[in-house]
Amino acid sequence: MSNAPGQPNGGWVEVIAGVMFSGKSEELIRRVRRSLIARKRVQVFKSHLDDRYAGVFMVGSHDGRTIEAVPVDSSAQIALRLDPQAQVIAIDEVQFLDAGVVALVNSLADRGRRVILAGTDTDFRGEPFGPMAPLMCVAEYVDKLHAICVCCGAPATRNQRLIDGKPAHYDSPQVMVGGADSYEARCRSCHVVARDDGAQARLF
Ligand code: ADP
Ligand code: ZN
Repeated sequence: MSNAPGQPNGGWVEVIAGVMFSGKSEELIRRVRRSLIARKRVQVFKSHLDDRYAGVFMVGSHDGRTIEAVPVDSSAQIALRLDPQAQVIAIDEVQFLDAGVVALVNSLADRGRRVILAGTDTDFRGEPFGPMAPLMCVAEYVDKLHAICVCCGAPATRNQRLIDGKPAHYDSPQVMVGGADSYEARCRSCHVVARDDGAQARLF
C-alpha cells in the first residue's frame, strides 16, 4: 500500500465529493487505475438503485488489467462481499448507502485499507445527502469538485432537479427511483427549489 504522509502503515479514508457532472467518477477511476499500476489489490463497489445504475462499471489500467465494480444496495452487502485481501476499496455513488457505511469504512481504514469514496454531497434541495456529511468528517482527505453551471458558466455546487422541465418542489422525495426527473449542474445563484409560497428554498 502506498503510504500517505504521517501514516506509515495505517489505512485512511478519502472522499471525492461534489455535484453531479463534477467528475467524481472520473477521479475515482483515475485513483483506482493508479492503484492497479502500483499492483495493489483493488475492489470497487458501486451503489445502484435500479436498472439505470446496473450497467457494468469497468475500471481499466494501461496494461490492460480491468476491474469490475460490484453493485451493492447497502453497507451490509459490501461487508459480505468484501475481498479480505483487498488493499484498496473504492465505492462510487456512496450517497445512496445507509449510515452503516461510516462505521464500515472506519473499520476498513483502521485495518490498514485505503478507502476511496465518491458521492454527491448535496441532494436536489442543496441539503446533505445520505451519509456524505459524516463520511466527509471521518475522512483524512476530502476533495470537493465543481461542475460548470449550465445557466451561467460559474462553478456549479448544486444539483438542479427538473420535473417536466420545471424546478422540483422541496417536498418531492430525495431519491426518485425510476422518476421522470432530470438533473442539471448549477451554481448557488441559479439553483431553484420550488416552494408553495413560490420562494426559493432559503435557510434565512
Ligand atoms: P460525476 O461522477 O461527478 O457525476 P462524471 O465523472 O461521471 O461526474 O462526469 C464528468 C464529466 O461530465 C465531465 O468530464 C464532462 O465531460 C461531463 N459534463 C457534462 N455536463 C457537465 C457540466 N455541467 N459541468 C462539467 N462537466 C460536465
Ligand atoms: Zn449559475
